[in-house]
Amino acid sequence: MGRVLIDGRCRQGTLPLRGGTLDGAGGGALDRAMVDYMERPHGEQRCAGCSHYLASALAGPQCDLVAGRIAPHGWCAQFTVPATADEPA
Ligand code: SF4
Repeated sequence: MGRVLIDGRCRQGTLPLRGGTLDGAGGGALDRAMVDYMERPHGEQRCAGCSHYLASALAGPQCDLVAGRIAPHGWCAQFTVPATADEPA
């Protein structure tokens, strides 16, 4: 079972979350191991379909939670389905 973030805190300690950038600054602050990141999809779930995915022609694929580059076909335990426009606010 993967580790769980609650209110921006990891069970193993406090980890400040920062927003990802599109200019190569490195995405989020979480280490891959802390979110069970892997370089392959998890069923139908993959980074490119996650609400935390940041695509950049300059910096390459990044995540607003996980540090460094990620793969569009990767996955981690923080995968989140993006909200759709027709969902109630
Ligand atoms: S699946 Fe994980 S690593 Fe991939 S974009 Fe979503 S939160 Fe980031």
